Amino acid sequence: MHGDHVGGLIADGKLAFPNATIHAGQEDADFWLSKANLDKASAEMKGFFQGAMASVNPYVEVGKFKPLKGNTDLLPGIKAVPAHGHTPGHNVYVVESKGQKLVLWGDLMHVAAVQFVEPQVTISFDVDSKPAAVERKKAYADAAKGRYLVGSAHLPFPGLGHIRAEGKSYVWVPVDYQQVR
Ligand SMILES: [Zn+2]
Repeated sequence: MHGDHVGGLIADGKLAFPNATIHAGQEDADFWLSKANLDKASAEMKGFFQGAMASVNPYVEVGKFKPLKGNTDLLPGIKAVPAHGHTPGHNVYVVESKGQKLVLWGDLMHVAAVQFVEPQVTISFDVDSKPAAVERKKAYADAAKGRYLVGSAHLPFPGLGHIRAEGKSYVWVPVDYQQVR
């Protein structure tokens, strides 16, 4: 529920997607939408809580927010899988169709030039950096082994590709992009 991931849910003070049901990990809702957590947060952290509340609470109020608890099938072929650490309820999303697989990492990693070479390097925005690094390493290893397509929010265009292991590091191999017909 960081602002750069939920900020687009509201436009001109109204629901940008009034027909949508918004999903996020239960632990993220418990953490970011808590008035008590906002009150005790440091001055520089308060904005993170306020941003989450401004974006998600309007959906909660009209019954359009549904938290996810653990592994959840959202639609046939689309599954939420907990990868907690960066935020308490951070999920990755697994999309499968006709034997092909895409895993959307969300905020699992942030700086390609550093975190593929040294997966243990964390970022100050991690709420809990230790499990964040553990989940990142797990996801990298699985993607390299499974040879499936990966998408991540903070990768340069096109943001989709494969990774391969090289010693204790990983190499990002972006897809060649082409016109969709
Ligand atoms: Zn984030």
